[in-house]
Amino acid sequence: MSDPMSQLVRKNVRDLTPYQSARRLGGCGDVWLNANEYPTPVNFSLTQQTLNRYPECQPREVISRYAQYAGLTPDNVLVSRGADEAIELLIRAYCEPGQDTVLYCPPTYGMYSVSAETYGVQTKTQRLTEAWQLDVPAILQQIDSVKIVYICSPNNPTGHLLKAEDIRQVLTATAGKALVVVDEAYIEFCPQASVVSWMQQFPHLVVLRTLSKAFALAGLRCGFTLAQPGVIQTLLKVIAPYPLSTPVADIASQALSDEGLSAMRARVAELNAIRDTFIPRLAELPCVEQAFLSDTNYFLIRFHDSPAIFKGLWDQGIILRDQTKNPLLGGCLRVSIGTEAEMESLYQALTQFGPKGARQ
Ligand SMILES: *Cc1c(COP(=O)(O)O)cnc(C)c1O
Repeated sequence: MSDPMSQLVRKNVRDLTPYQSARRLGGCGDVWLNANEYPTPVNFSLTQQTLNRYPECQPREVISRYAQYAGLTPDNVLVSRGADEAIELLIRAYCEPGQDTVLYCPPTYGMYSVSAETYGVQTKTQRLTEAWQLDVPAILQQIDSVKIVYICSPNNPTGHLLKAEDIRQVLTATAGKALVVVDEAYIEFCPQASVVSWMQQFPHLVVLRTLSKAFALAGLRCGFTLAQPGVIQTLLKVIAPYPLSTPVADIASQALSDEGLSAMRARVAELNAIRDTFIPRLAELPCVEQAFLSDTNYFLIRFHDSPAIFKGLWDQGIILRDQTKNPLLGGCLRVSIGTEAEMESLYQALTQFGPKGARQ
């Protein structure tokens, strides 16, 4: 597509590769296991009819319920249009373009680099170790000029927790110099591992959360930043005046009620059980080299011939996420945990492939 106005576009935006969301990648199927969504819709009804009025910038009930759920106080909580908006707000508020840098550890979530590049902020990367853990000495070696370290734990797409001790070492070494942002988008699947209680000790710790995964509300677009009140106040300076629409706040508030929280915990138990039954079963199949354990609602499978498997499943309407272009993830496809029936369809479809990937 030629765009006669392209010479007017900022250079870093011209050069930007946009985030390849599952939705943009398309596909035509009936078994969608590619976006880490909850597999079935949850019902809500709208209770607020005052759409003639602007919404509250930070709806009080949503904030106070989330604070209570997270074990914090309301002044530690910011709500935004998904955790994705929070990733971007932090860069806008803390990083000087052309001067400060953002560090993240691939293979990991794609939005840290996209948001940094959009604002003209340089990125540094430090690959995870072969065991898919933080390479702490290498991170600390390149920490100069870094304003924000993004750490995703449990990590997407690898599906496992990063060692708490390593995160603590990064926090200790960056005190007073940089923010350490721990992205806990999937923490509901392993809640005991949250680092949120470390915030007292480390005032530069920021935790990101979302309603998109365990809360089954990816379409709502609602996420949270947990941090010291000073950090929250700074982010409030740059956030849009009305980041959440009235219906979003209405539904988020219901999702965070006692009833909403117990429904969420029941969904987590169900998905974790499905995951723990299917990973060992899939690991036995001839086309599978390895099925990796997971602390989340998705997991990686390394196949002997991943392109053939990816396309073969795609053609049958089973859509997975290709991770083979990522460092350390050669041959790997990511599977989101679907319903038991969807996982059974995946299993049955995979039994048709031999070790070379060819259909038998
Ligand atoms: C899904 C996801 C997000 C984005 O969450 P939204 O609230 O839907 O914007 C952020 N971080 C990670 C690691 C994710 O997987």
